[in-house]
Amino acid sequence: MPSRVYPARRKLIMHKLPFPDSQCHSCHYLRLSHNKRGSIFLQCRHPDLPKYLPQPMNCCTAFTPANDKSSAQDP
Ligand code: SF4
Repeated sequence: MPSRVYPARRKLIMHKLPFPDSQCHSCHYLRLSHNKRGSIFLQCRHPDLPKYLPQPMNCCTAFTPANDKSSAQDP
């Protein structure tokens, strides 16, 4: 079961994130998680989408810039 990756740790692992070209990396709804073996998962927290979508995501209609809190819906 993946566990949450906290912001400080996220900075440390940015260089080895999966699917670096994915639009999700700059989205408000992205949640990074990892398992005990070190695998990292991209999880979507958008309320209307499945948690795990095919990657890399290039054209998501629900994309919300990570720093745009005004238009984001809380998950
Ligand atoms: S809303 Fe779309 S772009 Fe944002 S994390 Fe979910 S799948 Fe990725």
